Amino acid sequence: MIDEKFLATQVISIHTWSDTLFSFTVTRPDSFRFTAGQFARIGILVDGELIVRAYSVVSSPYDEYLEFFSIVVPDGAFTSRLQHLQLGDTLYIEKVPYGFLTLARYQQPAPQDLWLLATGTGVAPFISMLQDFKTWEDYQHIILVYSVRTAQELAYQDKIAEIKALFADEPAKLTFIPIVTREVVQGALNQRLPQLIASGELERVAELKFDVTRSHVMLCGNPQMVEDTKESLKAIGLTMNRRGEGNIAVENYW
Ligand code: NAP
Repeated sequence: MIDEKFLATQVISIHTWSDTLFSFTVTRPDSFRFTAGQFARIGILVDGELIVRAYSVVSSPYDEYLEFFSIVVPDGAFTSRLQHLQLGDTLYIEKVPYGFLTLARYQQPAPQDLWLLATGTGVAPFISMLQDFKTWEDYQHIILVYSVRTAQELAYQDKIAEIKALFADEPAKLTFIPIVTREVVQGALNQRLPQLIASGELERVAELKFDVTRSHVMLCGNPQMVEDTKESLKAIGLTMNRRGEGNIAVENYW
């Protein structure tokens, strides 16, 4: 018996990025509405019991399907089953979306520069935001920074290039900065985010300064990265966003 808070969806596609990373799409129930940056609670039925986890939506609010990006947690009750999904399998999605990592939370400063800083699967909500026209209309500069351990873990490269081409005529300019920390990869930076911020290297590569009067900075991913990067941003004068005011908004993605 499934809780009435949940709706049934069917798996449409599955994409494997690496041994531990995969993404999947499911049918979108007509009534499921969300804002780019929000997450859904997804359930999988195991021995008659629904196991539920939170997943940020990767797809845009305009898409007819819902896409999610997952890591396989070793021996994890949920992801170790989820990784064996087959096309047509049923998953359950809670009727309402969750989360406040959305651009609507920013009132002051007004939108100008948007920094989206992610590690690992934390890039998911940013891929959704980048497919929302409003993001491109509201901002002048968008900087997407995506840190992973190895080149193979850099997912969604083609999608990011496709998004950049699709919105090429919009006023905003997108700069994508990949970081690969455990391999040297041409075209990618090689240090952790807090170091790159403290040294000024990130600003140099982005050709843009963090600025208390202009910057909206969103952090999503590894909780320790979120904590350390937050501190490095505060050290250069940025403030946490509270009740609409301030620069930094965060979400732990584990
Ligand atoms: P990760 O350890 O989160 O690393 C991803 C990127 O974040 C790497 O570039 C890493 O740099 C960087 N990073 C890590 N700590 C940082 C910090 N304090 N400051 C700045 N950057 C930092 O790798 P992952 O593959 O995404 O996840 C690793 C493990 O986390 C998995 O084995 C999994 O068990 C768990 N996880 C769980 C969930 C969940 O939903 N339960 C989701 C994601 C991950 P370095 O290479 O320098 O470490």
